[in-house]
Amino acid sequence: MDSPEILYMVVPCYNEHEVLRQTAEQLKNKFNSLMAEKLISSKSRIVFVNDGSSDQTWLIIKELHQACPNLFSGIDLAHNSGHQNAVLAGLMTVKDICDMCITMDADLQDDINTIDEMVKKYYEGNHVVYGVRSARETDTFFKKFTAESFYKFMKVMGADVVYNHADFRLMSKRVLQELANFKEVNLFLRGMVPLVGFQNCKVYYERHERAAGKSKYPLKKMLSFAVNGITSFSTKPLKLITALGLIMSVASFFAFIWAFITKFFGYTELGWSSTICSIWLIGGLQLFCLGIIGEYIGKIYAEVKQRPRYIIAEFLSDTNKKEEK
Ligand code: UDP
Ligand code: MG
Repeated sequence: MDSPEILYMVVPCYNEHEVLRQTAEQLKNKFNSLMAEKLISSKSRIVFVNDGSSDQTWLIIKELHQACPNLFSGIDLAHNSGHQNAVLAGLMTVKDICDMCITMDADLQDDINTIDEMVKKYYEGNHVVYGVRSARETDTFFKKFTAESFYKFMKVMGADVVYNHADFRLMSKRVLQELANFKEVNLFLRGMVPLVGFQNCKVYYERHERAAGKSKYPLKKMLSFAVNGITSFSTKPLKLITALGLIMSVASFFAFIWAFITKFFGYTELGWSSTICSIWLIGGLQLFCLGIIGEYIGKIYAEVKQRPRYIIAEFLSDTNKKEEK
């Protein structure tokens, strides 16, 4: 290998003061050993993206940067923009200064030791290396069940994502530059990266429990994330509605024949319960279908406004580059 290439880590942080120092320490050790092995350049950096935290997170990031400016950088977002936007803010800030970039959560759930393998796969010519969980032993039954159903449901609904892969992945500079052309406001990086293409592979790792602090993804957020993923990547729900409408029309044709026959034989007084039931059923179905269509219209509304997906208040880096978007 010629001279080693520059790796940037992008770590989104939202109220992570309990775990951040530990994460920084472990990443620092990992970077030092990768540099000693000449796998990555000494210009490599760890970038923490503060996603509008209300705790000490940004203070800690500033401290880390001051203590070690040639290793730790920080991006402070002007307000909480959500995990996906925070990751994108990091990626778009580093896309021109790195050769490869790895995104990882701040809570040490992703295995830091997988980074070596990811970097080696990059040198083998892969532009994207997906970190895939090999086991979910540390998850509760509920989390495991909901998360695995999420991937299966996404697939059935036509949004193809890598099974059991979250946002722990390596991407090359080339992929980041192509990703910059995806202008959508409703971000779902797991669906977007496979769309970029290029040679890719998977590495398997065991996901740990959160080292400290609480999850910022309760069930409600996870459900809305799933709905966002499906409606951003597939129009299958709309097609299902059309199919349902067709089935209902055929069914109503037979219902009409049935009603006609009963009337002919003079049993019409029996019809009350079936009328009430079908009114409720059809009413419910119509509302549900309207809701799905509304979901898409809401998205179009958000997309046409083209509001910025994140706003960077400050970029702490030893190159002293300030950026605003
Ligand atoms: N996060 C963020 N903005 C948010 C919510 C979460 O940047 O609005 C970060 C969080 O700090 C963490 C990562 O996204 O680094 C994943 O969140 P979390 O670990 O809470 O999710 P879980 O692993 O429980 O699904
Ligand atoms: Mg987590």
